[in-house]
Amino acid sequence: MEKSPYRVLLYYKYVTIENPEEFTAEHLRFCKELGLKGRILVASEGINGTVSGTYEATEQYMQAMKQDSRFADMVYKIDDAEDHAFKKMHVRHRPELVTLRLEDDVNPLELTGNYLEPKEFYEKMQEEDTIVIDARNDYEYDIGHFQGAIKPEIKSFRELPDWIKENKEMLEGKKILTYCTGGVRCEKFSGWLKKEGFDDVSQLHGGIVTYGKDPEVKGQLWNGQCYVFDNRISVPVNRVEHVVVGKDYFTGEPCERYVNCANPECNKQILVSEENEHRYLRGCSHECRTHPRNRYIAEHNLTEEEVASRLEKIR
Ligand SMILES: [Zn+2]
Repeated sequence: MEKSPYRVLLYYKYVTIENPEEFTAEHLRFCKELGLKGRILVASEGINGTVSGTYEATEQYMQAMKQDSRFADMVYKIDDAEDHAFKKMHVRHRPELVTLRLEDDVNPLELTGNYLEPKEFYEKMQEEDTIVIDARNDYEYDIGHFQGAIKPEIKSFRELPDWIKENKEMLEGKKILTYCTGGVRCEKFSGWLKKEGFDDVSQLHGGIVTYGKDPEVKGQLWNGQCYVFDNRISVPVNRVEHVVVGKDYFTGEPCERYVNCANPECNKQILVSEENEHRYLRGCSHECRTHPRNRYIAEHNLTEEEVASRLEKIR
């Protein structure tokens, strides 16, 4: 098989970075030199990044990072790609690698859940008294998740601790398993759970992306796709069977196609079939469909009559 021209890297490492601001500026320069595109967060607690580039550029990046003792053992999840997965290159300095804003922060180097490799996670998931909690946001869960996993009703990661506190009884006496895309959120989240007094807490090492690539497990017990924060929007996980769990926003029919609401002021991500996108003018509500800046109407040069006739059909 021919080698894909591009690759997408996903990686993180909790490690102390002195002068993170200086590191951020240098790292941005370096990434731009290589022609990489993507998003990298730098904090005094470490690095969390996803970048795309040519095969050679991504190889050079990983080689250079290996020369730095802080990142020598950093693990990369590598996907082949036909093109860049991002438009620009950003490296940003942040107070945290993942935004939790805890009053009393958790350092995963000191406190975190047990690491489970894909095979172990697969087995443990099926044991009695085990509860699997998805540590991601609701829209990530909606397009794909582990069979039977709990969905916290949250729009962003920092809402997760409060959600858990409100739903605590669900976890009591259980063996808790957590997972996220690449593992970076679970490092903190599982540490936080232990701090909250839960004893039996484990996390999927390397996240869903690693799980999907495992040659033995092959992504089994995963339903749907895995949401990713780049132009691809989602990637496959389960290589044995594909069960669609996403539901069309309008009709509830099986759907794995995310689009943004055409009202630029709303921009909400909704799962919509191509057919329903046209029917509903890509608007999540009547207000969004009739918004003066509706992008769908502009893109398709719809006349007022055409808009009115489509609205009439869905009344
Ligand atoms: Zn909307």
